[in-house]
Amino acid sequence: MPSRQLQAYLSDPKLKHQWQKIKSIPFPIRISGYDITNECNLRCEGCFFFEGELSSHYNAAKTLDEYRIFFAIEKKRGITYPHFAGAEPALVQDRLRVAAEHWQHGLIYSNGTVKLGDELPFKIHISVWGGEEVDKRLRGGKVLDRAVRNYRGDKRAVFIYTVNPHNICDIPVVVQKMADNGLSISFNHYSASRQYKNKIRAGAATDGVKSTFRLSDHHFNLLFTPDTLAAAQDTITHVREDYPNTVIFSEAYNRFVHRPGSLFELDPQTGRATNCAILSLPYHRQYHTDFSHSDDECCIANVDCSQCRHYVSIYTLLMSKVKNSTQDLTSFQEWLDVYYTWCRLHFVDWSTSTTFNNAET
Ligand code: SF4
Ligand code: SF4
Repeated sequence: MPSRQLQAYLSDPKLKHQWQKIKSIPFPIRISGYDITNECNLRCEGCFFFEGELSSHYNAAKTLDEYRIFFAIEKKRGITYPHFAGAEPALVQDRLRVAAEHWQHGLIYSNGTVKLGDELPFKIHISVWGGEEVDKRLRGGKVLDRAVRNYRGDKRAVFIYTVNPHNICDIPVVVQKMADNGLSISFNHYSASRQYKNKIRAGAATDGVKSTFRLSDHHFNLLFTPDTLAAAQDTITHVREDYPNTVIFSEAYNRFVHRPGSLFELDPQTGRATNCAILSLPYHRQYHTDFSHSDDECCIANVDCSQCRHYVSIYTLLMSKVKNSTQDLTSFQEWLDVYYTWCRLHFVDWSTSTTFNNAET
């Protein structure tokens, strides 16, 4: 961006603060993803990890020493911000402790039911699937209250509400619960796997009670429609306004993620996204539990690109549009706000410090 134009934008004190704080991050953000277990104590309806072939079927029998070597190589490859997923990483905390020998920053995706040890330095995103009843129905167990008890007062934690057509009306009550417990919350959107979408379209019979396809059919399913997207946008707009200290979400993101239709440009032959920023990130790999990876896979195994509203892909897409942000002040403001929101979600002390003061990577 031409420096004169940037200086003009930065005459706004809020933009200047956001810009300087992002610039103070003392290392390049290079993300890679690691599935570190195939085990999970839940079976959420339509879970993309268990619904497809690209995730849960890899050998997970690795020793801690093998993990030690693997993570050391990844650190040396240049990764500065690892994402730990699985199924449920809290079930293999010794592997996370090995990761913490190599990195001070990173992210753990968890369902919140098993408390992650205080010694782990990483940010923790805890998935929420709705209020009490919906949560129990869709996930096969009461999750939310247990997660709130586990993470009350833990500055590493942000609850991530996975919005789907059946839990939109629960959003205000869950946000209130977060506010009452001094916790923060943000939003993800249910993104169907190819397998889930195909089963719905084919009218497939449900699987067993312990499966991740036990409730859905043509009438009850988790696929968004234009109406449910509009309802979600409206509800989130209201909770953003009503709970500014609890909800971490940007208005520009809120508008973008609720557009009807595919958010990505799709190859008509393959159905794959042709403009997915994750696939073109030079360092990004998504490792399976056997340490294998494929350059063709994004970090969201099995998800159908036409259904993808997953927050990792949407943040990556919006943050990559830096060229568009130079068009005018509004575009710059929105781009910066999305970037700043991402930082609030990914660095433990971001909201309480004026500069990024932990130089360790
Ligand atoms: S969505 Fe997460 S918590 Fe739910 S079954 Fe899948 S891996 Fe487990
Ligand atoms: S992250 Fe990209 S490649 Fe992966 S499902 Fe989403 S759009 Fe497709």
